[in-house]
Amino acid sequence: MPHARPGVRAAPRRDGPRFGRLGRTRAAGVFPLMWRSFRVRPCTAGPDRIHFPLRIAPPVSSQPPLKTRERLSEVRYEIRGELARRARELEAQGRSLIKLNIGNPGAFGFRAPAHLQRAIADHIADTDPYTHQQGLPAAREAVAAHYARRGTPGAAADAVFLGNGVSELIDLALRALLNPGDEVLLPSPDYPLWSAATILNDGRPVYYRCRAEDGFLPDPDEIASLVSSRTRAIVLINPNNPTGASYPKPLLERIVAIAAKHRLLLLADEIYDHILYDDHTFQPLAPLAGDVPCLSLGGLSKVHRACGWRVGWGVLSGDPARTGDFRHALDLLGALRLCANVPGQFAIEAALGGEDTITPLTAPGGRLYETRRALIDSCAASPHLRLAAPAGALYGFPQVVGEAAQGFDDHRFALEMLEHEDVLIVPGSSFNVPDRHFFRVTLLPDADTLREVFTRIDRVLARSAQRAAATAPAAV
Ligand code: PLP
Repeated sequence: MPHARPGVRAAPRRDGPRFGRLGRTRAAGVFPLMWRSFRVRPCTAGPDRIHFPLRIAPPVSSQPPLKTRERLSEVRYEIRGELARRARELEAQGRSLIKLNIGNPGAFGFRAPAHLQRAIADHIADTDPYTHQQGLPAAREAVAAHYARRGTPGAAADAVFLGNGVSELIDLALRALLNPGDEVLLPSPDYPLWSAATILNDGRPVYYRCRAEDGFLPDPDEIASLVSSRTRAIVLINPNNPTGASYPKPLLERIVAIAAKHRLLLLADEIYDHILYDDHTFQPLAPLAGDVPCLSLGGLSKVHRACGWRVGWGVLSGDPARTGDFRHALDLLGALRLCANVPGQFAIEAALGGEDTITPLTAPGGRLYETRRALIDSCAASPHLRLAAPAGALYGFPQVVGEAAQGFDDHRFALEMLEHEDVLIVPGSSFNVPDRHFFRVTLLPDADTLREVFTRIDRVLARSAQRAAATAPAAV
């Protein structure tokens, strides 16, 4: 067995019901085995399994339904999935919910900085035509200068690709790279678009674990053990969504060495690069990668709180003799979609050359800092929760422990939170982790709101603990 080590390979799933197979497997008590040959599937053990009326019933027709792409059945994006749909139903019925499912700053009262808004407004008359497929030269030069300042080798405007958010660039990069059956090493937990884009571009996700007990840091030995003749790339999300981990330089150096040895592309999702708390620092990957091909991804959605503008960039570095074909592939795919949203491109220079507007939010007294504090304090005060405090990004990924963890199911918990406590959270297994004891909250609400959320979470977990105690076999 070439891959008998603890990592995880996601085999294509082409059969079976859309919901519930993993649930049956768990009920049979062999879930850990299942994880070794983990198959990505939508909403595993999700709402159907716990008999909740969340799925939308299709209207009845005498004609067969339109067929869709088969591999979509392997794709999940529960952050906006069944639970979010149910939340909308409840809102339509007049319920007022606290929705912590999406890292969307604008939905929590954050605004993009005024000087970025002005930059777009000042140029709105110039935004009618398509731009070059890679983006406006001035914007690309601003990105290149920013990456050169942080030590990215060869950072120049023609190595920069602007996209409709990092989301589009993730898809373009994997489409440019993968042939059917090629493998991509992804973190588990991951940001699920990475898994989805790998699958929909005919690749196979192979997961390396980032365990809570290791502060959610990956183990380079495990990553190395998962490399096969089909492996094409290693994805790193740093600082991480959903865990908030920030990767230290020695760890990144070891991962670069693996990529160098096996001639892999490094895909560095650094969209949260400047969102850091306390004394935590961010080490960009490209300066360490040197000649090793590396695509560094960033954008305006998080650090600059402008998700809706759909502005992202990718900076390609590494030995030009090795990156040339990939660069041309990105250029071709970029040309096919013509260009990225033009008004947003005008904000890039202002964002990267202007004042730092994120540190006041992450420093003591700042809104994000205080909410993270509330998260840490709430988890510390709860007998049911354990937290690896986030070093960066916009999320917390607490683990349910103790009696409440017995028989715990993250989907059932998320549903109970929604139905009975008016709070929408994301079950941890939505992020492609085998363990079902985690959930994700965003740090975007104010601190008092998050404290209130954790009061409600504790109420539900206390009930779980009571149920577990009531059903535990009596001591003899
Ligand atoms: N990568 C990560 C890790 C994210 O968390 C997100 C959004 O939440 C994205 C990429 C997509 O960002 P964008 O808005 O630039 O498409």
